Amino acid sequence: QQLELRTLIDAPSVTADGRRIELAANIGNPHDAHHARQIGAEGIGLYRTEFLYMDREDLPSEEEQFRAYREVAEAFGMESPIVIRTLDIGGDKELPYLGLPKEMNPFLGYRAIRICLDRTDIFKVQLRAILRASVHGNIKLMFPMISTLHELRTAKQVLEEAKQELDEANIPFNRELEVGMMIEIPSSAIIADQLAKEVNFFSIGTNDLIQYTLAVDRMNESVSYLYEPFEPAVLRLIHMVVQAAHKEGKWVGMCGEMAGDLTAIPILVGMGLDELSMSASSILPARSLIRRSNVQEWQRMTEKVLQMDTAQEIKAYMGLAFPEIH
Ligand code: PEP
Ligand code: MG
Repeated sequence: QQLELRTLIDAPSVTADGRRIELAANIGNPHDAHHARQIGAEGIGLYRTEFLYMDREDLPSEEEQFRAYREVAEAFGMESPIVIRTLDIGGDKELPYLGLPKEMNPFLGYRAIRICLDRTDIFKVQLRAILRASVHGNIKLMFPMISTLHELRTAKQVLEEAKQELDEANIPFNRELEVGMMIEIPSSAIIADQLAKEVNFFSIGTNDLIQYTLAVDRMNESVSYLYEPFEPAVLRLIHMVVQAAHKEGKWVGMCGEMAGDLTAIPILVGMGLDELSMSASSILPARSLIRRSNVQEWQRMTEKVLQMDTAQEIKAYMGLAFPEIH
């Protein structure tokens, strides 16, 4: 079976009736980018840049970041999309050298874009590095953990300032750089119609979206039974987000673990997601499934799923529909 999958490395991810889904990889460093390309990724849907900042004594310089981002872009050439997510630190990922106080609820606290909007000195270094790398590939920039429209506008304002700084120094960058955001907090899913007007794309982060929607700590084993991607509340939010994005003519992807789950993919494609970003090892199995499928059939299944009452009912239905996956 592994051998059979390898024949799909350069094949397009298109359903039998012609719907194309972009299958991209999640990576944490430039080395992963080369590997992802070799095993069939069509681009990078999530570059978790926080790993550049971790396991060291101080912040990475603009130059160091620029070189890392450029390397990822160059691993894929000028066409393939590379989504670089700005620093998503906090929660379970710590940076001891920032000297941040311990918090009662780190996942609800000072993290990610919240730190960046407070420490624009740190944020701008990264934004300039990404902008500088943007002339070396099809780079797109993505903000994590946005919870309000004001926060998105403020982040975009800081980006404008970083552009201005580069302009003043005569340093080139891609003026058409696409700017997107993660939808991983229920508030942003609920106002996706407003947010969609002010970004080029969304990427749904189900790892956090599930955690915050069901109020279930994604790291806590004793409540893991509640951590459920197929929960109707989660599926409805995803569906709302896809519709809101498409209404504004924007593309929408998913980069949480759910995107690489073969039982979830028929529902996600059925809802209309344009891109799925996953760990590189899931790409060929996902491509194989997509190429054997029919999007109209998946849309009909999705309509049924969206009417079901419980995650248990939905999973039983998907299990029966795709016995070969289990
Ligand atoms: C997510 O929350 O789904 C996500 C992709 O981001 P991370 O797992 O890095 O929090
Ligand atoms: Mg997240």
